[in-house]
Parts: sequence; structure tokens; C-alpha cells
Amino acid sequence: MFGKRIKLFNLLGFEVRIDLSWIVIAILITWSLAAGLFTYLYHGLPPETYWLMGVAGALGLFGSIIFHEFCHSIVARGFGMPMKGITLFIFGGVAEMGDEPPTAKAEFWMAVVGPLSSLFIGGIFYLIYLYGREGGWPVPVNGVTRYLAWINALLAGFNLVPAFPLDGGRILRSILWGLRQNMRWATRVSSTIGSGFGIFLIIMGVLEVLRGNFIGGMWWFLIGMFLKTAAQQSYQQLVMRKALEGEQVRRFMNPNPVTVAAGTTLKELVDDYIYKYHYKMFPVMDNGKLVGCITTREVKEIPREDWPQHRVAEVASGCSENIIAPDTDATKALALMNQTGASRLLVVEQGRLVGIVTLKDLLGFLSLKVELEE
Ligand SMILES: [Zn+2]
Repeated sequence: MFGKRIKLFNLLGFEVRIDLSWIVIAILITWSLAAGLFTYLYHGLPPETYWLMGVAGALGLFGSIIFHEFCHSIVARGFGMPMKGITLFIFGGVAEMGDEPPTAKAEFWMAVVGPLSSLFIGGIFYLIYLYGREGGWPVPVNGVTRYLAWINALLAGFNLVPAFPLDGGRILRSILWGLRQNMRWATRVSSTIGSGFGIFLIIMGVLEVLRGNFIGGMWWFLIGMFLKTAAQQSYQQLVMRKALEGEQVRRFMNPNPVTVAAGTTLKELVDDYIYKYHYKMFPVMDNGKLVGCITTREVKEIPREDWPQHRVAEVASGCSENIIAPDTDATKALALMNQTGASRLLVVEQGRLVGIVTLKDLLGFLSLKVELEE
């Protein structure tokens, strides 16, 4: 979901990061506030004042979103959930969770605090606005506080729509989960509403574009697409996690994997292994001991005509990032594949290669289990 991220600062132990996509949005928001909303609402100010107001409005929105996600994170931490930090991206912010909430109650409080925090901060901006208006503060200052009061109320409202994974959808899921004690069913219902709401926004977006409001329409369209995908993915991930949870890697591994002897030349490797088995990575063995991994990436670095002169042991690298223990949970194996992009992991016990586990095997098991138990 994320591209390149930049770490900003640490807030009480939570790392706050921005995704590069947010910078584009920050510029767009500043521009549409300066050249659009503020110019339309307040007449006769010097041009640079509109830009200052735009920057202040965007920064205020930025701070408000961090506050919203920070409140989610604090409550989550209170319930003992590991939190990975807060990331701001194109559609707002996320407090990244390492796992699903432990109980329905935990999820309810974690979710409900989001809209409440937006209402709270919006209320504070509204009071400042009222105070400033009575006290005759400069128009640009009142303009910005009024905008921040309004945008936070809007954020609270949007987040209360019961469309998973929006906060409102999480509140709905926690209530359903608490009622029936079935998290999977609760997730299915709330994520179905989530993708339904996504489709609704997509249609609204298309209608807006047809009516001539191109930018606004595109915006609704993109948010709709994002919500629909996020809703579907969260349900699939949950099903996957539930099916693989508690299953050890040992169950899925191939105990007799194809290995390459250290003395094999690169030419033999390519002809007899890579083109034969179509794997990108092979473990390299010397006298029954794992000495490294050879991948197509390393082969590519050597000119083709030199392949017969080099042995795999010379160019093989360590395989530390592709190694997993046999008693590891299959969900962890999947997470590691996801993280490193490797579709095959070496199962190693006390320095000895005992098997290889592949994404294909994990997914094959998963589809059988879902089919039989659904
Ligand atoms: Zn939220």
C-alpha cells in the first residue's frame, strides 16, 4: 500500500512517518485552499495572505490527522497491541497495527476514539474561532480556525460511516463481533458494507465527472477505489490469517528440496537447475552443510561467457533473510515472504537445512482449508 516513507519524529514512542504520496496531497490542499476556498470566502486580501492561510490550513489538517491516529494508537497500546507507528498517506492517516485487535471491546474503544478525537479537536478550533471573532482577530486567522473546525467535523462524520475499514466500520464490526462472538462473520458483514460504500463513492465520482466537476469527481472515485480494495483485502487477510494460525511451517515444507552442490559451475546451474526447475533461488550445499544461497540476481552479474569458469560457491550469498525455523507459525512465514518478496523460504534447524516452504504450498493448503470449512 505504501511507497517511500520519510520518518518525521517520535511521539511518545510512536514513529510518525509520511508516505511520499502525502506531499503531493499537501501541495494540492494548500493550493485548493489558497486559490479556491479562502479566495472564494474572503475577498480583498493580498495574494500572499491566501497562500499563508493555505499553508496554515494544510499544516493544521496535518496536525489534526496525526492527533486522530495518535489517539487510536494510545488506546491500542493500552489494550496491549503492538503498534508499528503512524503513517500519513494520500487518503489521510493510518495507525498501523501489527495484528488484529484481541477482543471486540478493545476494537470498539480503539475505533470510537478516532471520530471522538476529531470532534474534540474540531470543537477546540471552533471555540478559538468564536473567541477570535468576538475579539476582532484578523480575518485570515479566523478563516483558518473556522476551516479547521469544519474539516475536523467532516473527518469525524466521514469516519463514522459504518464501512470497514473506516472507524465506523470497525465500530460496527466490534459490536457484531461482541454480539455473536464470531469475528470472521463480523468482518465479512462490515467489509461487505465497506466495499458497497466504496462502489457508491465510485459511482458518485463518475457522475460528478460527467456533470463537469472533474477534480472533485476524480477525488471521490479514487477514495471509493481505495475503500473497496481495502475492505476486500482486510477480509481476505483475516480469512488467511485465521486459516494459517497455529499451523507450523514444518507441515507445509518439502523435506527433500532441490539443492545445488558448491562445486557446480554457473553454466550447469543455469542449464540443469534454473531452466529445469524454474526457481529463482537454490540453497548451496557443501558436504551436507548449507553454505549459502544462489539466486538469478547473482548469476546475472557475471557475463554469460564466463559462466563455465565460475562455481556457485564463489558467487553465492548468505541466505539470512530467507531462513525460517520449522516450528514457526505459517502466518509468520507468509509475512516474511510478503516483506522480502521471496516466494521460497529455507527451513533451517540448528544450522541444518531440513526443507523448503513455498508460497504455492501455503496458498494451496489455504484454499483447501477455506473450501472445506467455509
Ligand atoms: Zn480513525
